[in-house]
Amino acid sequence: MYAERVKALNPYVPGEQPKDRVYIKLNANENPYPPSPKVREALSNFDYSQLRRYPDPDAAELRRAFASIVKVSPDMVYAGNGSDEILSFIFYTFFDDKLPVVLPVHTYSFYPVYASYYNIPLHKVPLEEDFSISIDKLLEPKSCGIIFANPNAPTGRFMSLEKLRELLTRYDSNKPVVVDEAYIDFGGETAVPLLKEFHNLIIIRTFSKSYSFAGARLGFVIAAADVINTFITVKNSFNHFPIDSIVQKLGIAACEDYDYYKKINAEIAETRDWFGKELEQLRYEVVPSKANFIFTKKAGLSGDEIYKGIKKKGILIRHFNYPGIEDYVRISIGTREEMNQLLDAVKNLRMKCEKGI
Ligand code: PMP
Repeated sequence: MYAERVKALNPYVPGEQPKDRVYIKLNANENPYPPSPKVREALSNFDYSQLRRYPDPDAAELRRAFASIVKVSPDMVYAGNGSDEILSFIFYTFFDDKLPVVLPVHTYSFYPVYASYYNIPLHKVPLEEDFSISIDKLLEPKSCGIIFANPNAPTGRFMSLEKLRELLTRYDSNKPVVVDEAYIDFGGETAVPLLKEFHNLIIIRTFSKSYSFAGARLGFVIAAADVINTFITVKNSFNHFPIDSIVQKLGIAACEDYDYYKKINAEIAETRDWFGKELEQLRYEVVPSKANFIFTKKAGLSGDEIYKGIKKKGILIRHFNYPGIEDYVRISIGTREEMNQLLDAVKNLRMKCEKGI
């Protein structure tokens, strides 16, 4: 009954959403704060009768609003139904089955899923010991393109713009370098200014993290205008109306209150830095992070033990059972209050571990 290709699918596994009790959710890098009050206002003012109409297929007003935030022209911006949809279009548009796409061995785990979906070979390169990305290693294999997240996931490590410029300078200017800036608003420096110099640079953004929109599904790609036109062709060959009319309105309202987001994201960055220091006091090893999460491990405890011990206390964090990072857990940054509760749970875990229970 099913097409042959379905057998080969190996889908992405998102952070769990168990329903057996109420959990503090620190496992999907969601924002602990609500969207801007302007978004709430736009939601209550939404004229429900307009739902009978199709939305603007090109989300023109929304693209204009986002373009003004990132300071590019609107024809350099395209909106998608979450950045996962944009990623799907990226893999479809740029990569084929001749040469592999190169990526770090540990980066956003949806990239290999799309590669397999479209039958695109991958070449994974190791990270440095401190989890930073080596540009020499990215440049070593023959490739049809490069993709990684910056700050990277799940490590939180940020690649400086100087390093990124070096990568772009040394790489083939006819092949795409895709930089997924899902976590850029928590302290990294955006690569947008480099778009003027490098036509092959493609930047991805999501509203799920820094704009508190994970449930609304909105993402963007920022690239040269002709690249964006190709995206529109791809979109129109798949789903003509990816952004519904409600989300278009809410997204515009969010863009109009950028100051609110600057404030809450600065607060998250501050909580992250404080929380990282607290963990270090408890002799956890903390990878320096510019994202809204922390990647950490503790000698004497496995990643799975930390994850399970914390879950018992009603707090969800993320453990990736992949070789090389199996000892680590990824902790999303919540409110101060949530992080204080997590610290209590972590201290409790330490006591158990030291008593050998
Ligand atoms: N890129 C990275 C690096 C991510 O961590 C995520 C979130 N899982 C996404 C993209 C996808 O985000 P969205 O909710 O916009 O699909």
